[in-house]
Amino acid sequence: MSVQAIPAAIIGDTRVAGDVVQSVYDPANEDAVAQLQEADAAVVDQAVRAAVAGYAEWRTVSVEGRQKVLRQMADLIDTNADELADLETSNTGIPLAQAHGRHVKRAAHNFRFFADYIGQAEGQIYEQDPAFLTLVRRESVGVAGLIAPWNAPIALGGMKIAASIAFGNSCVIKPSEQASLGVTRLVEVLQQADTPRGVINLVNGRGAITGQALVVHPQVDRVSFTGGTTTGKAIMSAAGAHLKPCTMELGGKSANIIFESADFETALDGALLGIFTNNGQQCLAGSRILVQRSIADRFIEAFVERARKLRIDHPRSATVELGPLASAPHRDRVLSFAAQARTEGARVLLGGERSTKFDRGYYIDPIIIAAPSNDISACQDEIFGPFASILTFETPEEAYALANATKFGLVSYVWTQDLMLAMEAQERLESGVVWVNTPMMRELRAPFGGFKESGVGAEGGRACEQFYTREKTVTIRKSRAPLQRLGLG
Ligand code: NAD
Repeated sequence: MSVQAIPAAIIGDTRVAGDVVQSVYDPANEDAVAQLQEADAAVVDQAVRAAVAGYAEWRTVSVEGRQKVLRQMADLIDTNADELADLETSNTGIPLAQAHGRHVKRAAHNFRFFADYIGQAEGQIYEQDPAFLTLVRRESVGVAGLIAPWNAPIALGGMKIAASIAFGNSCVIKPSEQASLGVTRLVEVLQQADTPRGVINLVNGRGAITGQALVVHPQVDRVSFTGGTTTGKAIMSAAGAHLKPCTMELGGKSANIIFESADFETALDGALLGIFTNNGQQCLAGSRILVQRSIADRFIEAFVERARKLRIDHPRSATVELGPLASAPHRDRVLSFAAQARTEGARVLLGGERSTKFDRGYYIDPIIIAAPSNDISACQDEIFGPFASILTFETPEEAYALANATKFGLVSYVWTQDLMLAMEAQERLESGVVWVNTPMMRELRAPFGGFKESGVGAEGGRACEQFYTREKTVTIRKSRAPLQRLGLG
């Protein structure tokens, strides 16, 4: 692949150049595939102004008109799916089959989902006092600033674009500086739909420069962020100074609880998927595996054996199960947790080193540790890689206590065939999502969001409607009865 220029911005349908600030590498072979240009505050301002102009027209488009455009966008994504998936894989190392079959497909699905959703909006009318009719209108809010991470750029960025424009807003998206190749092309593809100019805009660059300028821009009315917890706190503080509503989809350290009453093989399959899908780089990864002691030896042995056989390969291989990590610094960070776990008394059951299979690329072997306690860093910090920490427990009470002993609260996994136990567990677990006997089932009608330091707000049908619209209460007097009259002396 030749080295591409990633523009600093796409404003309306125009590519805007900027200073090159960094190279973008293919994690599979360490080749530079692109040069990233950066939008400074002035370019961000141009993009936001274009969004304001686009909004003036887009807000007047009927629901049917918006549905038509959203469906057109979904079709455009499908038509360009091969190219989008290819770029995503070149930039992130995500296995091509997953980039194609999950990420890009999901992005198209999101546009269709929101097209359907806005066609089913419900309203509120109140007539408590028969002399008045009170109705509640939902209006779009204006310009949404969308900030996305590198681990699923098209899927997560596409979700934010679809949700914000479906409810009549315009947007400016800033992908991660590490992974803007696919999202930049996605925006170009979406521009081919019949939208007013300026409804979708993109700015590229580093968080502290481009992202910060977007967050504090006075004409950005909403900030939707997906990324790390530390970044989320900084963005929310900056947005808070302007009283700007935010949603924060942040990090996780999710517990995957395997009770002795689980269907053993299904729980094993689910635990492997929960931590090794997407090269382990998922906010919702089941990274702390809690196994009931009566089945622990058997489960851990089987888990390690299956993980040992994971097919580490080039992300374009048809049979790859674990591709390279996204960058060299990230690979080194993930490996450093294995070294630290050893010093904290953990037994490393598998991996801990770079993979010897390839000379180039950011490949590592899957890592599994038996943790001496839930307090070690590998059980408390989000590692964001193919790294499973295993703990054992005796009773359900102990499992809930371990699961909840974290600052995060994104997702919990529960494996049991005992219905009452599943019901008890979902009640006791402190996370925004609980998956029972399934890994990673995303229901778009339901909110997806984290408790505690995993987030504020959520994404999903109604959750996005609430975030990307504002309610206006209109009260109309319908009685001819005279008002109380003042000033008559
Ligand atoms: P990150 O926080 O480093 O960066 C995310 C985005 O924020 C990037 O676009 C970055 O440029 C931007 N940014 C950084 N500093 C900024 C600032 N001061 N102002 C404005 N923007 C700024 O996250 P990452 O490393 O790209 O992604 C990995 C993280 O994302 C993990 O913690 C993961 O758990 C989280 N994540 C969460 C979800 C979820 O739904 N909860 C989904 C995917 C990823």
